[in-house]
Amino acid sequence: MIKIEVDMDTCQSYGQCVFEAEDVFQLDDKGKLQYTKEVPDDRLADIESATDVCPMQAISFTVS
Ligand code: SF4
Repeated sequence: MIKIEVDMDTCQSYGQCVFEAEDVFQLDDKGKLQYTKEVPDDRLADIESATDVCPMQAISFTVS
């Protein structure tokens, strides 16, 4: 499993991560990021992309 963590103090809700994996990252109706904290290993490429595009470098993840 891939465990995702977003530093919500750092996240500025730019939403770039949403474009990389919209089933994992969403902006709610207040514009706040909501995300799934555990996803299967086959999503690794998408999670890496989301992590790479985040302008705040707010996303981190571990694979176990
Ligand atoms: S790309 Fe980064 S700053 Fe933007 S919503 Fe996603 S985690 Fe937050």
